[in-house]
Amino acid sequence: MAEAGSFAEKVKQQADIVRVVGEYVRLKKTGKDFSGLCPFHQEKTPSFTVSPIKQIFYCFGCGKGGDVYNFVMDMEKCEFPEAVKVVAEKCGIAIQRQKDRSPEERKENQQRSVLVEMHREAQTFFVKQLEGTLEGKAARAYLEDRGLDKEELGRFGIGYAPSGGDALLRHLKPKYNEKLLVDSGLVSRDQSAGRLFDRFRRRITFPISNESGKIVAFGARALGEDMPKYLNSPETPIYSKSHVLYHMDRAKEALRRQDFAILVEGYMDAIAVARAGISNVVASCGTSLAEQQIKLLGRFTRRVIVNYDPDTAGQAATERSLSLLLEQDFEVRVLALPSVGDKKADPDLFIRERGKDEYLKLLKEAPPYVDYLIARARQMDLTTGEGKQRALNFLLPYIQKIPSGILRSEWATRIAQQLRIDEPLLRSALSKAARERRREIKSGPEWIGRAAKPVERRLIRMLAEAEGFRQELAKHLQNAHLYHGLETEKIFAALVIASLSGQPVQATEVGAMLEERDRRLLFEILFEEANEPTWEEAMSCIEALQHRQAERELADVQRSIEANPAAPEMRGLLEKKQELMRRLAAAR
Ligand SMILES: [Zn+2]
Repeated sequence: MAEAGSFAEKVKQQADIVRVVGEYVRLKKTGKDFSGLCPFHQEKTPSFTVSPIKQIFYCFGCGKGGDVYNFVMDMEKCEFPEAVKVVAEKCGIAIQRQKDRSPEERKENQQRSVLVEMHREAQTFFVKQLEGTLEGKAARAYLEDRGLDKEELGRFGIGYAPSGGDALLRHLKPKYNEKLLVDSGLVSRDQSAGRLFDRFRRRITFPISNESGKIVAFGARALGEDMPKYLNSPETPIYSKSHVLYHMDRAKEALRRQDFAILVEGYMDAIAVARAGISNVVASCGTSLAEQQIKLLGRFTRRVIVNYDPDTAGQAATERSLSLLLEQDFEVRVLALPSVGDKKADPDLFIRERGKDEYLKLLKEAPPYVDYLIARARQMDLTTGEGKQRALNFLLPYIQKIPSGILRSEWATRIAQQLRIDEPLLRSALSKAARERRREIKSGPEWIGRAAKPVERRLIRMLAEAEGFRQELAKHLQNAHLYHGLETEKIFAALVIASLSGQPVQATEVGAMLEERDRRLLFEILFEEANEPTWEEAMSCIEALQHRQAERELADVQRSIEANPAAPEMRGLLEKKQELMRRLAAAR
């Protein structure tokens, strides 16, 4: 697909697949290659491999493989042109205007960039309101009371939406039509009168950026007693709340470096934690975590400390999030902050009252999620059998998600002790749950590793990589019909054609010509440990194939002889047999 000389080809040459994939998958260097947990299927041990030399990836578990574009297309669920754009952007390569985009796509893209631009203008507007107006002064006082100084207000882009009801509207109206204004979510339309008005009024505004740092929405906190206390942008063409984590754009580096994330509920919490110098914090923005948000986070780390509000809603959100995180195989701990005085403490309040060091200390001590859950279960009424049953039912779904049997068993003992439940009873309930889960697990992929003989594997590898003699080798194989009838015939055929063309062989393009089974086998072979190929080795592989070819022919001839044909044909067959036997003997 990436035609020679095309923009896509140029981007591919400049892009480093390890760097691009590394933004989605945590990669470790293993020998010449890199490996990590496959983002396309659930696994606990890495079978996903990236080769910086070949600039391709392959998963030995699910068989996905290809070049940097295939990866991005699968990961972002997008088409080729979009993947080129994504890779170019990630690598800082200027994007040419693509003429081959459809008119609708162009229109949508255009609309998206106008909406982003509008958000940037709204951001400037809100910041000015906070800084320079009388009304903004009250908001500033509130924020200062929360300990935010001018520098920090700037750092987090905090602004103010005035109470008038049409201040932003008037500011934007000269430049944008009504439809765009409404589509942006910054302006709402009065249902009955059809009149337009500002969505955010008399509220402190927090810009919400997407992963690449573009403002795509706003969160807004009521300054007075207005309800709701927190109001966010609606879903728009540039914002989907289940895909965005607040503060992600600034947390990326710290997440990678520290290899864990602190997950909080709201932007004030994230700001409070970040202000304390702990940058690896993200907020789910009110709602409990969505699967897409977890996937986004999982690209940077798979260890999370959940620090939600201690109120009932926060607890429920914590528990829902736990389920999802465990399903996605995260290592999860839970920080439930102690009350400050008689007030239940969210991270913002806690850090203000008790300080950063105390928060850091508790963060370090945050217990694994199972401890948190046992503590929760112990708060239930355990005096009756029914109560215990309820507590157990509360715990079971979580316990059964513990991947390790040993750990599960340890926790069973602990739960039995802490909840005063008969241990054998608990264990049988646990194993029943485990059995039920087993039934849900889908059977593995139909594809099972196909055996190709070592000689075939070796030759395939050489055809793909031995720049020095690939063409020569392809001629040999083709002239002698050496791969005909082999299980790997189609792979050979595709590679021979590519090699004879004299152009560099692109594994992905050869793969695209093959059926799924063959494509997988090709990638598997390309990732095998192998020595530098030599012409001598190639020749000895060819001899081995010739030998096998002679054996196959001999078997055919023998069958024909046994059918006892007429004399002239029989003579020919016997001569052929003699010759084949001579050849085989000579090869020995
Ligand atoms: Zn996989």
